[in-house]
Amino acid sequence: MAIWNLGSINADFVYAVPHIPTGGETLRSTGREIYLGGKGTNMSVAAARAAATVHHIGAVGDDGEWAVDRLMEYGVDTRFIARVEEDTAQAVIAVDSHGENMIILFPGANDAIPQSILQEAMAEAQTGDWLLIQNETNLQRTAATLGRKMGLRVAYAAAPFDADRVQAVLPHLDLLFLNRVEADQLRAATGKEPQDLGVRDVIVTLGADGADWFGPQGHRHFDAVPVTPVDTTGAGDTFTGYVMAGLDRGQPIAQAIKLAMRAAALMVTRHGTADVIPDLKDLEDFRP
Ligand code: ADP
Repeated sequence: MAIWNLGSINADFVYAVPHIPTGGETLRSTGREIYLGGKGTNMSVAAARAAATVHHIGAVGDDGEWAVDRLMEYGVDTRFIARVEEDTAQAVIAVDSHGENMIILFPGANDAIPQSILQEAMAEAQTGDWLLIQNETNLQRTAATLGRKMGLRVAYAAAPFDADRVQAVLPHLDLLFLNRVEADQLRAATGKEPQDLGVRDVIVTLGADGADWFGPQGHRHFDAVPVTPVDTTGAGDTFTGYVMAGLDRGQPIAQAIKLAMRAAALMVTRHGTADVIPDLKDLEDFRP
């Protein structure tokens, strides 16, 4: 089986700051690193590190070859990444000493993925494969509709939250990922609990409080693995990628969630994004 991930590809500029700046405030950064990132990329890398076959569907500009090369080195299939006129997407990320973060996104090429590349990808997909989407690209609704039609299972991480985009894909989903804030936003937008929106499985992640899974048999809570966080960037993406890899391997969802919690916990103890997502070997050695 395989995971087809329609996802963003970003250059992440990560600034260390004493605290998260507020409106009108100017802050000196104490350090800067440039990483490969984007929710889509992080999820592709996480699923590949969790030993899944991952095909990334996306777009970069002229300035993005390094990102494609990096994804390829990480074992992700990059044949369905289009080269477009727009610049490669960027994220400006501030991280404070407690590991809290704040992010500004420049979408660039992520919003210019040509439909033709999606169609080429879907032509190679097999019934039962997973299609994964998030909100950092165009074509989500087209992908969800097409994916379903081709017999793929469709998973969606509703991040960054956008009420219209979520509502547009909801009828086509098998699995929905939300963090606590997104779950609240979805409640506000629909007037319903996320688990009452007709999606078979819903996972709500709760940061250091773990995650809730709502499935056909009801609700189950999973405690987080206790760690001291240094940078929570990419925790949710790591979690999502690992859950997808587990499901793609045929694991029961509870088992996939448990491994994903370990991966996400180890991830928050590391600075950085896609480059530092743990692999299965890291998790074997992880003694929290
Ligand atoms: P997002 O990064 O999308 O906001 P969360 O903050 O809910 O998502 O984190 C996703 C998952 O990462 C959580 O369900 C948990 O398993 C893990 N995680 C996040 N923060 C911590 C933490 N401080 N300690 C342990 N695990 C964490």
